Amino acid sequence: MPFAVIKFSSSFYNWGASLESDKCARVEAWLRYGADLELGPYYRNRVAANVVVETSQTVGAQSTEQSQTPIAAAARTVAASSSFGLSPTASSPTASAHSSAPAPFAQARSLFEASDRIAGDTFQLIRETIGDCTRCKLHKARTNIVFGVGSMKAELVFVGEGPGHDEDIKGEPFVGRAGKLLTQMIEAMGLRREDVYICNVVKCRPPENRLPEKDEITTCSPFLFRQIDVIRPKVICALGSCASQTLLQTTQGISRFRGEWFDFRGSKLIATYHPAYLLRNPSAKSEVWKDLQKVMAVLGLQPKRK
Ligand code: URA
Repeated sequence: MPFAVIKFSSSFYNWGASLESDKCARVEAWLRYGADLELGPYYRNRVAANVVVETSQTVGAQSTEQSQTPIAAAARTVAASSSFGLSPTASSPTASAHSSAPAPFAQARSLFEASDRIAGDTFQLIRETIGDCTRCKLHKARTNIVFGVGSMKAELVFVGEGPGHDEDIKGEPFVGRAGKLLTQMIEAMGLRREDVYICNVVKCRPPENRLPEKDEITTCSPFLFRQIDVIRPKVICALGSCASQTLLQTTQGISRFRGEWFDFRGSKLIATYHPAYLLRNPSAKSEVWKDLQKVMAVLGLQPKRK
């Protein structure tokens, strides 16, 4: 059965010689993933009506509209004081860029849309499917696969980039310096680490803490999507460029869309700066705190009393 899928994949390649190699890699990873699950040949011609390729103009208009939703309005009413660092500044250079910046995300249905949810999927099944993974080159230097940690019933999921040294050793995401800051951020929101779910785009440590590469992200991210599908959180907070660009399928810089609301497979998604970036640029904490306050407004959370 898996053979049939892979075979189809190669004929798809021939047919789609003009497809960008990135798209081919995604399709191939998806098919391989289907083969892993022994789903069989499941490709179907998706209904054209599902595919809405939005122009940057229409998407830009949507972004502006989103910033005027009750969610955003409610977020503005939350007291603007950061409990995990600096107090916020009154205005930010990026905030003004937001409203005018078109966000040319492919908001069309994709291979990874919610319609592809696996019925009856569980963390155990996902973990078993990952197994002692050797699908990409990251397996060579890893100590542990870092699956994720927290509540499977979490309303809030944080997605980072990939494990660092400490995470690789411990097998748990965000336990190093950046992790300690993330924990402070979570607690400032009035939550505990165990109330949320924390995971990464890739589950094995990239050597020398380099950025995960495209093929590694393409190979590993379907497992992240499955985890999100199992949890079905109200809110996903993408930490940093890698997570937000992967989830939103964009190459735009994070500062262009940070703090805006998006839909991701039925969850609200907001991107904010990565805690490791905050360690290098503490003045950006105020921006992050504003983003977290938006999340708190959606989840009905009160900031932790000092
Ligand atoms: N940075 C990440 O993106 N993830 C971790 O788990 C740790 C640091």
